[in-house]
Amino acid sequence: MTTKEIPLERTFLAIKPDGVQRGLVGEIIRRFETKGFTLVGLKLLIPSQELAEKHYAVHKERPFFKDLVSFITSGPIVAMVWEGDGVVASARKMIGATNPLNAEPGTIRGDFGINIGRNIIHGSDAIETAQNEISLWFSDAELANWEPTIKPWLVE
Ligand code: GDP
Ligand code: MG
Repeated sequence: MTTKEIPLERTFLAIKPDGVQRGLVGEIIRRFETKGFTLVGLKLLIPSQELAEKHYAVHKERPFFKDLVSFITSGPIVAMVWEGDGVVASARKMIGATNPLNAEPGTIRGDFGINIGRNIIHGSDAIETAQNEISLWFSDAELANWEPTIKPWLVE
């Protein structure tokens, strides 16, 4: 069976220090794996101040920026790149609203969080943002180009 060619789409996801500390790494990865997306990059790191500030540069004038950067650099995070048709928007849906109190049950933030400053996971908000974030966090050599053998059972 062959698979129709679809444009490659990738997103950047990061399990924040609260998600790692709370032991949610396996549960979160499981959700994206079982959904049918493909993991193409994965690493655990404590982000530098510089990396965190670049990642959240769009929020640099916001009152919560300093706390956000200090939180995101406070411990290990799990940085990931996931691939699949529609993965950027789909991952945002699976993550849920920014404030976990508004996030629907069934979403990661809706199931596991209660506070906007501890909302467990980051996901790129658009295709262009995803491309910028992926190149900020990963080198080309850290990303694997591969096709899962089950792909014909996931995509027509
Ligand atoms: P996201 O794309 O859903 O993660 O949300 P945003 O891009 O709007 O904000 C980035 C991150 O900043 C969020 O995930 C929160 O961790 C944090 N954040 C956003 N708004 C607030 C706020 O009003 N208060 C605090 N403490 N943190 C916030
Ligand atoms: Mg955002």
